[in-house]
Amino acid sequence: MTIAIYAGSFDPVTYGHLDILKNSVDIFEKVIIAVAYNPEKKAFLPVEDRIKLIKESTKHISNVEVYSFEGLTVEFAKKHNASVLLRGLRNSADFEYENQLAQINLSLNSNIRTVFLTSKPQYSFISSSCVKELVSHKQNLSKYVPECVEKFLYKKFDY
Ligand code: ADP
Repeated sequence: MTIAIYAGSFDPVTYGHLDILKNSVDIFEKVIIAVAYNPEKKAFLPVEDRIKLIKESTKHISNVEVYSFEGLTVEFAKKHNASVLLRGLRNSADFEYENQLAQINLSLNSNIRTVFLTSKPQYSFISSSCVKELVSHKQNLSKYVPECVEKFLYKKFDY
């Protein structure tokens, strides 16, 4: 059984993240979404809200689990018997950064490999930071995030 860890900020989860996830659940027996909690970094949404929205957006997929984590991704992967770190690529800029991260993680634990998947072109321009910007301008988010995320954000910001 191959378990993959899909780690990230997911602040908030977008259709870009979910497209990568959708492909990955056909490849791996189990995919664990690991939501990074970093007390030093100011997040847009608290980790509990990010997890809640991911759970709601993935409730139709049976082989997905969602947790928060602090510290090194490879340590979290080892603890969960995962042998794959899953990451998504949007473009060549993502590749430069992601490749560096993958090499560092491989040097930390050579039994855990990074696998990259690309999103469909219609999702490849979506990022959590663009969604945050659009929320602040009270824009319609339906092309970028699931309905539950859009509703949550508008309620939270009292629009
Ligand atoms: P991080 O802060 O670790 O970059 P993110 O939540 O921004 O966390 O992203 C988690 C992973 O999902 C990263 O590998 C990122 O490249 C990927 N990702 C995010 N948005 C997209 C998208 N639209 N298409 C493909 N991959 C994406």
